[in-house]
Amino acid sequence: MTVRTRFAPSPTGFLHVGGARTAYYNALFARRHGGRYLLRIEDTDRTRSSEEAVQQILDSLAWLGLSPDEPPVFQSQRMARHAEVAHQLLARGLAYRAYETPEELAAMRERAIAEKRPPRYDGYWRDREPGPAEAGKPYAIRLKAPREGETVIEDLVQGTVRVANAELDDMIILRSDGTPTYLHAVVVDDHDMGITHVIRGDDHLTNTFRQCQIFDAMGWRRPHFAHIPLIHGADGTKLSKRHGAVSVLEFREQGILPEALLNYLLRLGWGHGDEEIVPRERAERIFDLKDVGRGPARMDYAKLLHINAVYLRKADPEALLPEVMRRLARGGLMFGTEKAARVRALLPALQERCRTLAELAEAAAFAVTDGTPPMDAKAAALLTPEARARLADLAEFLSGAEWNRQELERWLRDYADIKGLPLKEVAQPLRAALTGSTVSPPIDVTLAALGKEEALARMLAAAEG
Ligand code: GLU
Repeated sequence: MTVRTRFAPSPTGFLHVGGARTAYYNALFARRHGGRYLLRIEDTDRTRSSEEAVQQILDSLAWLGLSPDEPPVFQSQRMARHAEVAHQLLARGLAYRAYETPEELAAMRERAIAEKRPPRYDGYWRDREPGPAEAGKPYAIRLKAPREGETVIEDLVQGTVRVANAELDDMIILRSDGTPTYLHAVVVDDHDMGITHVIRGDDHLTNTFRQCQIFDAMGWRRPHFAHIPLIHGADGTKLSKRHGAVSVLEFREQGILPEALLNYLLRLGWGHGDEEIVPRERAERIFDLKDVGRGPARMDYAKLLHINAVYLRKADPEALLPEVMRRLARGGLMFGTEKAARVRALLPALQERCRTLAELAEAAAFAVTDGTPPMDAKAAALLTPEARARLADLAEFLSGAEWNRQELERWLRDYADIKGLPLKEVAQPLRAALTGSTVSPPIDVTLAALGKEEALARMLAAAEG
């Protein structure tokens, strides 16, 4: 059996981190077992679905590296097939026509609630043939669900879960307007797509019993199910916008790296000993559903930043450069190759100290301003008349230096020695003059990155005040 998994988002909004985690688990499980990972867009609810949401989901998945192994299946294009299966069940006597109007159903519901009974369909048409009164009337198709016994699921995460069939009523599979219900469409699609493992949020667990009844009625082999606990916010309620960023594209905007987000989401609800950093190649080798926890996971934004910082540090600076430049350009800082070279020279040092791409761009901004960047108050306070005079002197001294990091480091030390000053006293006003701030990468790196002409110009500008 070749493993086939699927991620099946409803395009009613952006891709949420919970969905991204579900997609990732499906992709990992398929990869681990040499199978395939598919995507189905569940867009049968035309009023709530939008083209824009479909595009956003596809973009988010592509950004995460979670595009499917086969072209996506659109559920709305398969409605004829859903109807066909419903009619097959009807023809085999495993489903029946039910003629209640929506008003009658609502009344049935209200009666049940008033009598404190669960609001289930009473099965009126289950064993009745339509008479002349029903001729030409619209009808829904309902599954003739088993009434005795239990429906049992061996869930790969939740263990054995069961429900008494008496508690499930005869669900509608095809509405009177000919459209399939969601539960029915999912079963037909999962079957036709050859899905062997359904890995999804545990909010779908109760649907699974009903879906299994359809699989069973059709005599189709049920897929294996794995229902993963939902993601909660720090306060223990279901994760929502109130808690902070929830959409994949928001995290992207904040400068989270896709591989870091995946690592974080993987660990949210799944563990392998206490390994925290589990890159994708490793996850593809060790991911196992038995290591998925049963309790809800809590979104921890600080932890995500920590993991992002780890990935940022390890990243190839060349791979980060375009994104950092894009952010700087978007911030209104236009620059050409010379300024890009400054950013490139700073990147390795900045990667050590920043947690996100947004922080990285912010920290690199000083290098691409035209002339001295705006000075913060702390930096301005360092530029006393004495410090300014020294900057002029230092500029003169450094103008003889060969302009690279090692040489500049040596020249600065020599200068401090000659003047009998601690290096810090030379470096701090210099940093203020070059960057407008009291924090920056090491001063030799900063000097070298700016280039001789720009660095000396900034020093002289600061010296003049
Ligand atoms: N479309 C459903 C959702 O977005 C998922 C259904 C499934 O995975 O079976 O929650």
